[in-house]
Amino acid sequence: MKNRLTGKVVVITGSTRGIGRGIAISVAKEDARVVLSGRDENEGRSLVEEICKLGGYAIFVRTDLSKVSDCKNLINQTEAHFGRIDGLVNNAGIFPRGSLLETEEKLFDEVFSINIKGAFFSTKYAVEVMIRNNNGGSIVNIGSTHAFGGSFDLAAYSCSKGALYTLTKHIARNYAKYRIRANWITVGWVVTPGEIERIYKQGYDEEWLRIQREKYMPMGRFQTPEDIANGVIYLLSDESEQVTGADIHITGGFWPS
Ligand code: NAD
Repeated sequence: MKNRLTGKVVVITGSTRGIGRGIAISVAKEDARVVLSGRDENEGRSLVEEICKLGGYAIFVRTDLSKVSDCKNLINQTEAHFGRIDGLVNNAGIFPRGSLLETEEKLFDEVFSINIKGAFFSTKYAVEVMIRNNNGGSIVNIGSTHAFGGSFDLAAYSCSKGALYTLTKHIARNYAKYRIRANWITVGWVVTPGEIERIYKQGYDEEWLRIQREKYMPMGRFQTPEDIANGVIYLLSDESEQVTGADIHITGGFWPS
């Protein structure tokens, strides 16, 4: 156990699998008290146990981020349990395919309700607690290279991440007076369960992934959840107490075609 986050209470959305799970474990290893959230109760409980076995402390709050009432409940439960919130990591996200011309209202609403509406309202309720407690706070938004234009077939996703980028800047600009910081991590390419589902749905396989890695990853490998977690830990910790509105690229030099 290390101690860069000792005493801090950190909420992580979508933390039962993928990048969020990696962030949760890494943050717990830095001695933060972690609030896990997601829709799957079993995955949540088993991660709580795993973190406890590592000597950390975590609770799980079942949350469907597409419901504003659930976002509110996540923050309320955190405050009720710990009396404070020091960090919120807006990680949950979905990335279904669809070009501008293919995107129907249903898909657009689904993507925006989780990727931006959920993050927006979780942030709103967390910032309320941070202001009330007068302890400052750190919001970390898990972003994507796609925010800056994006691939042809990720229209709604790319736009939702663009909005999340603006939310980061908005909080940084307007809440620094409360010592509340907001930063963004541009994630490159991490082969998570969500990515694997997407890749197989499109008819690709391991061999395709290997070719993509050689073509697009100048440093020779995909990123891992731990690579992303290292940036998150820095942004949650007091080491970054003067850092706000930043965009940290953890991409290994990757830029999508
Ligand atoms: P993943 O699908 O493996 O995990 C996503 C997480 O979000 C899961 O825990 C899932 O349960 C949760 N989630 C989805 N809908 C939810 C809802 N309605 N309510 C609550 N939780 C919900 O995906 P991942 O690859 O780990 O992605 C995590 C984040 O990283 C996303 O925001 C994604 O856009 C971003 N990202 C990923 C990559 C990559 O290469 N994997 C690249 C850039 C950005």
